Amino acid sequence: MTDAVRQLWGAPVEEALRARPGLRLADLDARATPGFTGSKADGRAAMAATGVRLADLQERLYAHGRTGGTRSVLLVLQGPDTAGKGGVVREVLGMVDPQGVALRAFGVPTPAEREQHFLQRVRAALPPAGRIGVFDRSHHEDVLVPRVEGLVPPDVLERRYDEIVRFEEEVVAAGTTVVKVLLWVSADEQHARLRTRLTQPEKHWKYDPSDVDARLRRGAYEEAYEAVLERTSTDVAPWYVVPADRRWFARLAVTALLHRALDDLGLGWPAPTYDVAAELARLDASR
Ligand code: AMP
Ligand code: MG
Repeated sequence: MTDAVRQLWGAPVEEALRARPGLRLADLDARATPGFTGSKADGRAAMAATGVRLADLQERLYAHGRTGGTRSVLLVLQGPDTAGKGGVVREVLGMVDPQGVALRAFGVPTPAEREQHFLQRVRAALPPAGRIGVFDRSHHEDVLVPRVEGLVPPDVLERRYDEIVRFEEEVVAAGTTVVKVLLWVSADEQHARLRTRLTQPEKHWKYDPSDVDARLRRGAYEEAYEAVLERTSTDVAPWYVVPADRRWFARLAVTALLHRALDDLGLGWPAPTYDVAAELARLDASR
């Protein structure tokens, strides 16, 4: 982060956004910009500046992976329909080399996936060393939809929270930094965004009639998201709650969180495994 950008953050991003115990999503101001003191224009400038740093760090991570390193980063994006997960992928991950990104979107499990343990498809999608993995929805969906719809027995659901915590601990222990982001959009803003999907023909493809069914159960989903935050936010894999009514802020916040995660890896450039001076001499002699 440049000094100019750091000054616009009144508090470190991870402190400003970390999920606090007992958080009530109904009380969350989705238009707030926690930690960030600047305007929308400042936010865009800060995002571009941080993006340049992010791209450099991402290349280091990739180089690290190509030279035997084992570290990786996993960005988990959750949030209700229209919260802006796709926009984050496009605008934030769009600032780094796509070759270093492993993106996976999780939809309703297929019949074959339903036969497996719920973590199996997630394990298979974990980022290889050196990559930034991105989950557009994730294993956390397995304690959201089934809980609201009553699709699995309570004891199975209960066990899943513990399985998720243990799974994420394993992933972190294997060298992956896990950054979990809940993008939170207000009911009014979600209404406006869904409306746009219905009034603009080029957005019809984004609309799903089930989006309204989920809206009608907003209270139950809030409660289910709160349970996710309560049960699966750990020191090794904490949740960050990002108010998402202002798209510019949500994208800036995820950029800053990712930057922080990569910066914390403290990666330099890999040392060459050959004698640079000797190779230079050999190369020049080959002219
Ligand atoms: P979208 O992200 O808009 O493409 O929609 C994907 C849909 O898949 C959403 O309605 C999710 O709730 C649903 N989904 C994703 N994972 C699961 C899961 N494990 N169990 C049930 N539904 C899921
Ligand atoms: Mg959708």
